[in-house]
Amino acid sequence: MKNIEQHYDIVIVGTGIGGATVLSALVDTGASILVLERGEQLPDTAAARDAQAVFVDQSFKSDEQWRDVNGKLFAPGNYYYLGGNSKFYGAVMLRYRERDFSALKFEGGVSPAWPFSYTEFAPFYRAAETLYQVRGTVGEDSSDPGGERGYIEGPVPDEPCIARLRQKLLDKGYHPFSLPLAVDIERWLARSQTPWDGFPDTGTGKIDAQAAALTPALEHDNVTLISGAKVSRLQVSECGKRIKSVEFEKAGQQLSVSATLVILSAGAINSAALLLASKCARFPKGLSNSSDQVGRNFMNHNCSALLAINPFRRNRAVYQKTIAVNDYYFGDEPSGEPLGNIQLLGKLNGSILKAGLPAKFRWLPTFVLNWLANHSVDWYVMSEDLPNPESRVSLDDDGCIRLSWQRSNMSAHNKLLSRAKKMARATGYPFLLSKPFDSSVPSHQCGTVRMGIDPALAPLDSYCRSYDQRNLFVVDASFLPNSAAVNPALTIAAQALRVAEHIKTTETF
Ligand SMILES: Cc1cc2nc3c(=O)[nH]c(=O)nc-3n(C[C@H](O)[C@H](O)[C@H](O)COP(=O)(O)OP(=O)(O)OC[C@H]3O[C@@H](n4cnc5c(N)ncnc54)[C@H](O)[C@@H]3O)c2cc1C
Repeated sequence: MKNIEQHYDIVIVGTGIGGATVLSALVDTGASILVLERGEQLPDTAAARDAQAVFVDQSFKSDEQWRDVNGKLFAPGNYYYLGGNSKFYGAVMLRYRERDFSALKFEGGVSPAWPFSYTEFAPFYRAAETLYQVRGTVGEDSSDPGGERGYIEGPVPDEPCIARLRQKLLDKGYHPFSLPLAVDIERWLARSQTPWDGFPDTGTGKIDAQAAALTPALEHDNVTLISGAKVSRLQVSECGKRIKSVEFEKAGQQLSVSATLVILSAGAINSAALLLASKCARFPKGLSNSSDQVGRNFMNHNCSALLAINPFRRNRAVYQKTIAVNDYYFGDEPSGEPLGNIQLLGKLNGSILKAGLPAKFRWLPTFVLNWLANHSVDWYVMSEDLPNPESRVSLDDDGCIRLSWQRSNMSAHNKLLSRAKKMARATGYPFLLSKPFDSSVPSHQCGTVRMGIDPALAPLDSYCRSYDQRNLFVVDASFLPNSAAVNPALTIAAQALRVAEHIKTTETF
């Protein structure tokens, strides 16, 4: 193990939404900051806008494999690049609803309360919206949490067929609203006429963690980035209460660097895995884990794709993803449980459909799938997944990640899916096909190193600081105590800004 000579004030592991955003808010402290990122710059090639290359050939996936609950190896849809998973995200930047910050009862259990209120958090949401150049509007969303927005412009416009769909929904008594989106749509389409959801961003209009936060931060002299640096372990100090050094592998070399503060932002699955991998004689369950909650409470949303097909109506949308419906977010019966969010997917085509088909249907000719996609409106139906200690990330003896996802709250999801189908039929789409997303797509992974007020139940305090090792912060989707039923990125970014503010007021560099 070779020591990098220099000591850094702060070492940040990972450049996803959590890592890049906290970095962007800490650069002006003047602290010396080292960023260690396992991935490299996403290559700007024609493949980045080719659905066959992205979805069928999976050219941008790593060759990493994890095990599922039964020990079966699978290739996870988890991405390692500068900017992390946000390079591929759908750029939906929704806030949690105000009631998502309180305990909520579901048929399948309870969604726990946050350690602070929406009111306290709202200013950070606003700052995150501005940082990620979100476009959106207020007043349309039936469960809107209120508060001033940081939107930089009005919403991304509906394409003509989506504008007609919006009108149809309104006519039928639904409340469609414009999705808040971190996309410069003109720039995105100028490169090539594709949707952005699931397509990698090569710096052409998606405002991801790299574009919004990492690249501007790297202009500061006090920030050093080492890419291709896979962190393998955190070393604890003799007293056990601090992280002493961060060990990583770069180009076959084992290196180590010491730091005053360590911010772990490797993503909900990898951050938990790293803390578990850092076990030692003194901490045999891993670091920051006196609660035994590290890796537990893994959540991922219950999501289904719903294809609403009308053989006589052509969908000519290129990107499609501009509206959503929250009419069922808190349920539609007085005593009913919350059900979730329904939003449009990025427009599917035959290649994307093929990639999602079970192996036994992959023989279907692409022209048939293209016909289906040309006559469908494609919805994403999303319900809350509840925390459960047995739903977890663990490490097998050979170091392989095991993802034992225990789905929860499926009754709510099935009800929401049936409401979504009814809505699709009402808007003129009589044929409906749906398919749930499984654990090989952990795109909304969260909860594995959660924050809370009781150190016996949560590894992190409400500023994402480890109760056990006080110079360690975990700032990525791990900290989320619940998954709510909205896409997570804006909430991760807002909390990263809140944590940075806390660090600035409590630490001196
Ligand atoms: C296809 C897709 C679509 C999505 N759409 C949306 C959407 O529309 N809206 C939304 O809110 N969310 C969306 N998400 C989810 C969103 O992208 C994630 O919630 C968010 O990016 C998570 O950020 P993070 O910082 O927690 O982790 P990550 O983005 O996973 O970042 C972790 C970083 O750490 C690096 N890393 C990992 N391990 C190590 C290690 N050992 N050493 C060094 N570096 C390491 C990784 O390479 C990565 O850069 C989508 C995700 C996907 C995959």
